[in-house]
This record gives sequence, structure tokens and C-alpha cells, in this order.
Amino acid sequence: MAEVCPKCGLPNELCVCEEIAIEDQQIKISLARRRFGKLITIVEGFDKDIDVKELGKELKSRCACGGTIKDNKIELQGDHSKKVKLTLIDMGYPPEMVDLDESCSANRKRRRRNR
Ligand SMILES: [Zn+2]
Repeated sequence: MAEVCPKCGLPNELCVCEEIAIEDQQIKISLARRRFGKLITIVEGFDKDIDVKELGKELKSRCACGGTIKDNKIELQGDHSKKVKLTLIDMGYPPEMVDLDESCSANRKRRRRNR
């Protein structure tokens, strides 16, 4: 009998729970629209070992923008998603760990067309 994963009930060779767990740790960069149509870049998903405050300071200075750091999450004013990704990779994060959510820029195009 094949071993069955207690979490998803699938045989271990089909189970993707572990992969999902690794993906959960991924750093996610996304854009959000705040009041008055202002865009902010949200960087989240950091491991607890990471000094998010220091990293946030670094990102703010590299992107030359303002921002806030709270709850293990960095919010930068403006759209700096691509710059943040490059900066994180530059700082030694593996590119596959940094996930840039492109859906927001797609939304933006759609919205522009509607105007
Ligand atoms: Zn599983």
C-alpha cells in the first residue's frame, strides 16, 4: 500500500501539499489602489526570520518613495512592483521566491480602456 498524505488524502507521490507550503512562503508583490486612485505596491509573505523593517527601509530608499511597514508587510507608495522584484533578486532572493502579481496591471489597462 502506498503511503497516503494525511492532509489531502492523496498517495504521497501525487501529493502537492509540500509544494503548496513552499509556495505559501513566497514573497508576493502586488498592486492595490487606495483612495483617490493612488497606487501602492504591497510586498508580503516574508519569513519570520526576515527583518522586514530593515528591508522596507532599503526598498524605500532604492525606489525613492515613501511607505509603511506593518504586520510583516511592506507598503510602498506608487507602482514599484518591477523595481521591488529586481531589488529583492539583487539582494539575494531567488527569483522563483519572488512572485510578481501581474493581474493588477491587467486591471489597470482594462480600467483605462473603460474611461
Ligand atoms: Zn497532501
